[in-house]
Amino acid sequence: MKYIDEYRNKVLVDNLVYGIRKEVSRKWTIMEICGGQTHSILKYNLLQILPAEITLIHGPGCPVCVTPVNRIDQAIVLGGLSNVMLTSFGDMLRVPGSTSDLLSVKALGGDVRFVYSPLEVLDLAEKNPEKEVVFFAVGFETTAPAVAMTVKQARNRKLKNFSVLVSHVLVPPAIEALLDSEESRIDGFLAAGHVCTVMGTSEYIPIAKKHKVPIVVTGFEPLDILIGIYEVVKMLEKGRYGVKNAYTRSVRDEGNQAAQELLREVFETTQSEWRGIGFIPASGLKLSGEYMEFDALNRFQLDVPSTVSIGACIAGKILTGQQKPADCSEFRVRCTPEKPLGAPMVSTEGACAAYYRYHRTTVSTL
Ligand code: SF4
Repeated sequence: MKYIDEYRNKVLVDNLVYGIRKEVSRKWTIMEICGGQTHSILKYNLLQILPAEITLIHGPGCPVCVTPVNRIDQAIVLGGLSNVMLTSFGDMLRVPGSTSDLLSVKALGGDVRFVYSPLEVLDLAEKNPEKEVVFFAVGFETTAPAVAMTVKQARNRKLKNFSVLVSHVLVPPAIEALLDSEESRIDGFLAAGHVCTVMGTSEYIPIAKKHKVPIVVTGFEPLDILIGIYEVVKMLEKGRYGVKNAYTRSVRDEGNQAAQELLREVFETTQSEWRGIGFIPASGLKLSGEYMEFDALNRFQLDVPSTVSIGACIAGKILTGQQKPADCSEFRVRCTPEKPLGAPMVSTEGACAAYYRYHRTTVSTL
């Protein structure tokens, strides 16, 4: 297939749903990791057309959603400093910290700007030598290589007024943490095709073996997702586990080795906090010693107290698939995309925003 419309073809969708119906003989719970997949599932009404035996639950793969409150608070403090220009992707400006957000800091006169690419920030640093220009870097293995490239270029360009507030996280340790949880009821996973395009599929093999689960790498169009579900169900019904790549138009088993090399050079893994989930060992990235001069935390010595949770927001339970947005008492009540109380309502990849936008029932489908 060559065109995006073909991955939304109703006849092919119906055929795949029929195929899933023929395979399934009992209840299975499947988690799609990525928020982009969650949005497609809601947008194309896949929850309604799948057989009742299949329960889809939504995972933590929304970069804005999992950025911890404390890191937002650190960005807010930086954005309020008179000598700092704080830059980030647009969604981050609206994510609530413990008492405020970056958009409010901007409204109060802070030099807070959104950018489309981290490389733009280097030009801002060059043009504003009187400012300390900080990039607030969030996201998974998909966005981290561009940030690694930016840091390398900052060094090549001898920029002394540029630094990064790093909040990158990694998918495989999060899958492990979900499976290790006593509350886990996940039978199989749809892994995120864009993450695997960068990292390949090998990291998932030991996880699938250890926990005896099928992990199928797939994409973001309705047919991609249904093929992923079909493959997971076939493996589950046959009692098989392992990793299957169902997104071969983008993912190679070895991934993008140049990007991986860049990540290894600029970053090292570290324990990281995930919003609403807690600390997960080796699930984050920090700048390696060679690039420590560009670490904003190192440069500014911020002392921002940790915050455990925000009010009634149940983001942690949403991000681990234990509950769905309709289970939150604030959903559509005090929490809306215009006035989000939690990160999953802000981001275009957040489950709460997806349910608000596309899902008409307010009854939990868990
Ligand atoms: S609806 Fe709002 S308050 Fe409730 S979990 Fe989602 S983001 Fe948090």
